[in-house]
Amino acid sequence: PSGAEPATKIVINLERLQQLPAEKVGPLARYAATIQSQRGDYNGKVLSIRTEDLRSLAIIYDMSPGELTEQLIDWGVLPPEARPAKED
Ligand code: C2E
Ligand code: C2E
Ligand code: C2E
Repeated sequence: PSGAEPATKIVINLERLQQLPAEKVGPLARYAATIQSQRGDYNGKVLSIRTEDLRSLAIIYDMSPGELTEQLIDWGVLPPEARPAKED
């Protein structure tokens, strides 16, 4: 599908992530846990990650960054505001 734009500000809802089944969010959950570990950032309800990390995650999920953005919003892991405004 065309038209899906990648998020520019990626703030993952960690509480929501924990509620979702591992077969869906396993790779994302492991990626987020690794970033938390590297930062020593374990106390947050949310985790801000790099735009570059969205591209890496999109490869893992075999989607475009825009499609993954839509998937993450659909799961409730990203808020709908993460979807960039369309310019049409
Ligand atoms: P914000 O970016 O809207 O983040 C709001 C709150 O979400 C933060 O409040 C923090 O409690 C939480 N949060 C966001 N990302 C993370 C994360 O990766 N880990 C954890 N543990 N919590 C996260 P906080 O810390 O009081 O920051 C308030 C505002 O100050 C932020 O609003 C942002 O505008 C600014 N700020 C804080 N840290 C940074 C930073 O490293 N870079 C930049 N550019 N701004 C920052
Ligand atoms: P690094 O990439 O060499 O970054 C070193 C330090 O620079 C970070 O220490 C952080 O204090 C700061 N820093 C780098 N980029 C940013 C940024 O975009 N925003 C903010 N607010 N600070 C930045 P920190 O946080 O202890 O992270 C240690 C190492 O963990 C990083 O070394 C990196 O290798 C990894 N890491 C942490 N968070 C992420 C992430 O979101 N994505 C990726 N790919 N790696 C991360
Ligand atoms: P932020 O701290 O507000 O940084 C916004 C953007 O500024 C980053 O977007 C990146 O393009 C640039 N930037 C900030 N600090 C550095 C730096 O030390 N080196 C470089 N090369 N660029 C920097 P980006 O990469 O998409 O990251 C988005 C948000 O993810 C950051 O917002 C921060 O909240 C978080 N983040 C990313 N990497 C790290 C990290 O290594 N450690 C921590 N603690 N937070 C990170």
